[in-house]
Amino acid sequence: MRKALWLAMVSAALVPACGGNDLLAVDATSDDGLAISEKAVSLIQQRGGQLGMDGNDSVRQRSRFVDEQGQEHVRFERLYRGLPVLGGDFIVHTGAREDESITALLASSLTISQRPRLTPSEAEYAAHKTFDAARSVQQGSKLLVYALPAEPEPRLAYEVISTGVKEDGTPSILHTFIDADSGRHLDAYDEIETGAAAGTGRGIHNGAVSLNTNLNGTKYELLEVAHGSSQTLNMGNSTSGSGVLYSKTSNDWGDGTAANTESAAVDAHYGASKTWDYYQNVHGRNGIAGDGKGANSRVHYGSKYNNAYWTDSCFCMTYGDGDGTQLRPLVSLDVAGHEMSHGVTSRTAALVYSGESGGLNEATSDIFGTAVEFYAANASDPGDYLIGEKIMIGGKGFLRNMKDPTADGVSLDNYAKFKRSTDVHYSSGIANLFFYLLSEGGTKASVTVTGIGRAKAEKIWYKALTAYMTSGTTFKAARTATLSATKDLYGATGAEYAAVGKAWTAVGVN
Ligand SMILES: [Zn+2]
Repeated sequence: MRKALWLAMVSAALVPACGGNDLLAVDATSDDGLAISEKAVSLIQQRGGQLGMDGNDSVRQRSRFVDEQGQEHVRFERLYRGLPVLGGDFIVHTGAREDESITALLASSLTISQRPRLTPSEAEYAAHKTFDAARSVQQGSKLLVYALPAEPEPRLAYEVISTGVKEDGTPSILHTFIDADSGRHLDAYDEIETGAAAGTGRGIHNGAVSLNTNLNGTKYELLEVAHGSSQTLNMGNSTSGSGVLYSKTSNDWGDGTAANTESAAVDAHYGASKTWDYYQNVHGRNGIAGDGKGANSRVHYGSKYNNAYWTDSCFCMTYGDGDGTQLRPLVSLDVAGHEMSHGVTSRTAALVYSGESGGLNEATSDIFGTAVEFYAANASDPGDYLIGEKIMIGGKGFLRNMKDPTADGVSLDNYAKFKRSTDVHYSSGIANLFFYLLSEGGTKASVTVTGIGRAKAEKIWYKALTAYMTSGTTFKAARTATLSATKDLYGATGAEYAAVGKAWTAVGVN
């Protein structure tokens, strides 16, 4: 999804002395649909001059994320008179005043003629002469400013894209940069050489999706390089071993049916990818362990296996196919987010998986599994407060219901009902309902809570988990932990703090 938003503003630093109405146009685009960072834009207004920017330059927001320390990092592309500047991208770091800064490789003003001597077809001919094998060139090459440090001065250049096949059979998409005045070969890179590839697939639950795959020689693999090389592996109905990496010559996977063994892999690979993106983009967490290392997904575990689980020792998820009468393959988004969040918990609060801390551990996975489902915004599996609604056949149509935990007949909605022997998947209902009420509001046990929205509730739970919960945290201690997190994030006198207290009271935790 591409959202364009034009913000035009007068900038003291960027407006030349002679003109009063030069505007810095900021076109914010984001695959995640994130709004433009006004703080970052204001910093560009103040300090853009130090990067040599003036009325000829504009910027485009590419991505933004907030790290665990609360500092936001916003990436921008630089444009010169509307032309992309290759090498002109920079990062604006916002936060406390002393942390505000801009990281940029290019810090000089650009004075480049926009009138090339070469036509696009002349540039394509010049590029063709540099090829060492048969390639087909995409017609209509585009102009840009080449400002990578390989050249001493920024140059007006054509980017010529050609496709071909390397000697070993590996496909190649070559980007060649030709000086738009002299026809000189400036640079070239192959976008396939990095390994990262863009595949497509059809999942059982998620429908048609794009997949981040890897090209290894002549074969594509369900391996995401940018996510710590997380792999999706086929257990082939076995219950031992680590499985076999999905690998084949085409980059289109599955057909949406469980009969095709790739379809469940599509859902698992997609779910792992979205979960990583959620933690990265919403909480600034680099991977499940926070160290950039990948986590693998194993599908087709056993025969008609009716469960999915996280194992800390292999740092991997395992999914059963379900028996086909009660359960479908357990590879839905919320289940993927749930299982991987167990990995996050194990590397942070390490809540012990029994008693009250066990219920909080399970609730944490339900909370973030739900958050991932909302985050992915997949039309085939839109966000909701149900867990496992895509995998249930018949019955109540879900595994757990965060809005109404008792709807499954076994989960608890109030701490007064908790016993030491309560299964962790049932005591999770207490904190699940807390999270629902905090997000959406409502009345329970005669207590009315005004919701603060899911985004804030997620921030509070994540901060409480990572900064204030420990292995033995009880429900009462979770109340304290979330209040501490809320105080850090939104202050101790606001609506958020009041809502957290009330939501706990509504589930019997005081
Ligand atoms: Zn669980």
